Amino acid sequence: MKRLLEVNDLQVHFHSKKQNIYAVRGVSFHVNKGEVLAIVGESGSGKSVTAKSIMKLLPEKTCSIPEGSILFNGDEIITMKKKQLSKIRGAKIGMVFQDPMTSLNPTMKVGDQIAEGLIVHKGYSKKLAHEKAIEIISLVGIPDPIYCCTTYPHQLSGGMRQRVAIAMALICEPDLLIADEPTTALDVTIQAQILDLLKDLQEKMGMAIILITHDLGVVARFSDRVNIMYAGKIVESGTKNEIFYNPKHPYTIGLLESVPHLDLEKNQQLTVIEGTPPDLHDPPKGCAFTSRCPFAMEVCDLYQPNKTILSSTHHSVCWLMDQRAPKVDDIQYNDF
Ligand code: SF4
Ligand code: MG
Repeated sequence: MKRLLEVNDLQVHFHSKKQNIYAVRGVSFHVNKGEVLAIVGESGSGKSVTAKSIMKLLPEKTCSIPEGSILFNGDEIITMKKKQLSKIRGAKIGMVFQDPMTSLNPTMKVGDQIAEGLIVHKGYSKKLAHEKAIEIISLVGIPDPIYCCTTYPHQLSGGMRQRVAIAMALICEPDLLIADEPTTALDVTIQAQILDLLKDLQEKMGMAIILITHDLGVVARFSDRVNIMYAGKIVESGTKNEIFYNPKHPYTIGLLESVPHLDLEKNQQLTVIEGTPPDLHDPPKGCAFTSRCPFAMEVCDLYQPNKTILSSTHHSVCWLMDQRAPKVDDIQYNDF
């Protein structure tokens, strides 16, 4: 399968007068053409920051990328000039956010907003762009597309606004759609409809999706591969089946055990992962999950675990998986 996006050793820091936040700490992954990759983790795990770096949407004044590479179709995004970037952003990579108002302009009619992408990126005439806008509005399941074009975003319900945001992201038929918690703000029925719609459009248009979510139910229905993020790192990555049926990282196992399922015994409690993620102003020296991990060993506190390859598609970053997992008395810094 051909790689569309390749992220290598990405590091993202936020700066304030007092201190730095090490938000993304060496993240590597790829997205193949036409596949759905889910990125899962609690808030603050670095999912959205990773997504925003792909679109170069991070605030330049307070944020830096000291290391790493983001290749889209072989071109480096991190050092890309604005002019070249504008040919990719919105045209080849679309983005849908949790709050559709982030991407919608409240003062512009919906039809004009959706058509704008085609006029700007593809040189369409206003008339043709509007015809296409009506087509895509009906494709995302809005009942009266012609009327919808004449409305302003505030006249629509939350679910309809999110459909408009999706139509806007898809109008140029991007190769990659980044969907950051696209349904979190919506009620459950609308959530399911929007996700089915995205899946349907993904299959029809053959685009790849990076789906950012903390909802494992959504991941199970929707994705091909999954990256689990914790404290700015990917701690486990695998196909959907590897993650759901053969999870190896204690954090992944904890997440799966905290999801309600149908065969839960009456009165049986769901497990919760006790504690909170570490402070990324001062990230821990060893494994960031140590303080919450029921399997933590002495070594975990002292040294970063390495990536253990479990299959050609599955890896975990945990001392438990490492054949060299040493007894802490025996190890020296130089051994690693
Ligand atoms: Fe738990 Fe240690 Fe594995 Fe971290 S490295 S997840 S603390 S066992
Ligand atoms: Mg987020």
